[in-house]
Amino acid sequence: MPSKKEINFISKILEDLVLISGLSGYETNVREYLLKQLKNKKLRANTDILGNLICTIKGDNALPSVILFAHMDQLGFIVKKIENDGFIRVERLGGIPEKSLASQDVVIVNNKNELIQGTIGTKSHHATQQEEKYLVTSIKNIYIDAGFKNKRDVLRSGINIGSPVTYAPYYKTLANNNVCGSSIDDRAGCAVILDVAASLIKTKKKPTVHVVFSVQEEFNLRGVLPVINTLKPDIAIQVDLTLTSDTPDMINSSDVVLGAGPCISLFSFHGRGTLNGVIPHPSMVEIFEKAAKIKKINLQRSVASGILTDASYIQFANKGIATVDIGFPMRYSHSSREVCNLEDLINLKNLILTAINKIDKDFKLIR
Ligand SMILES: [Zn+2]
Repeated sequence: MPSKKEINFISKILEDLVLISGLSGYETNVREYLLKQLKNKKLRANTDILGNLICTIKGDNALPSVILFAHMDQLGFIVKKIENDGFIRVERLGGIPEKSLASQDVVIVNNKNELIQGTIGTKSHHATQQEEKYLVTSIKNIYIDAGFKNKRDVLRSGINIGSPVTYAPYYKTLANNNVCGSSIDDRAGCAVILDVAASLIKTKKKPTVHVVFSVQEEFNLRGVLPVINTLKPDIAIQVDLTLTSDTPDMINSSDVVLGAGPCISLFSFHGRGTLNGVIPHPSMVEIFEKAAKIKKINLQRSVASGILTDASYIQFANKGIATVDIGFPMRYSHSSREVCNLEDLINLKNLILTAINKIDKDFKLIR
């Protein structure tokens, strides 16, 4: 059972991270925050051309090397047209669900890195016709009202075509150590691996671990690829959400429950537009199962279609990488109010730490 101190610590880091707007391709503010946190822990890190933040913790060179990563970016929009009357039209960046956009608060980042507040307009109820009542407004018809009078007014504020837009950053705590936020995907993953990095420097027997905060996952699932090509790790552990099935609208899709412990993906597949997924490396499944047993952590098992992360692409890089997707249970993915559980995050951190320490000379890299 995690202590109150541990809960408060992870909650603070997660809150800080969620309250930063960091659209795919515009991760600078998130990266700077993480860099500061790493420096506070006396950890050195560097940034590559794409903006991936890499912190290498040296271990035994005779052991297979590990990349442990989570994505810093979040989904959102890009300004695509400014109307003469000051309303702002946007294009989706990432899997934004149109059904959850009406009356949504958003922030637009201007050319001075300031947040301009806005809200997505929705047709007045009193003027809504019967046949419009249950319709979802398509992104083509969505507009942001930021209070501007006209196009000149918008441009003067430092907003232009191409400006990044995200859900208005939001974080609050709910009952039973559950939290609700605007980019739990995957700032919760970032908070967890940041904590793993801080603990790893204290462990003696370990492989070399590259803790990486990656970019552009929500855009094209390949932002971490250059890191893989440069560092050539043997093992990849990817940390992101696992969909729960414990809300009234998700019953029967899996056994994953919020607050019941971290998750391991045994199968993920996405067949729309691309064919990819991860069937995890058996040695990775084995060490995570062992770690869960040692730490007495309930490890939830997930099989899901319609899910894809960078892990799907990196497993085929170089000579092949022993890959596994590890996650925290999360509700309401890609909406502006994603929900996860802080105890799950702490258990996930302890699980990863223990699993990494299980990578020894007997680890079977060949599948
Ligand atoms: Zn994610």
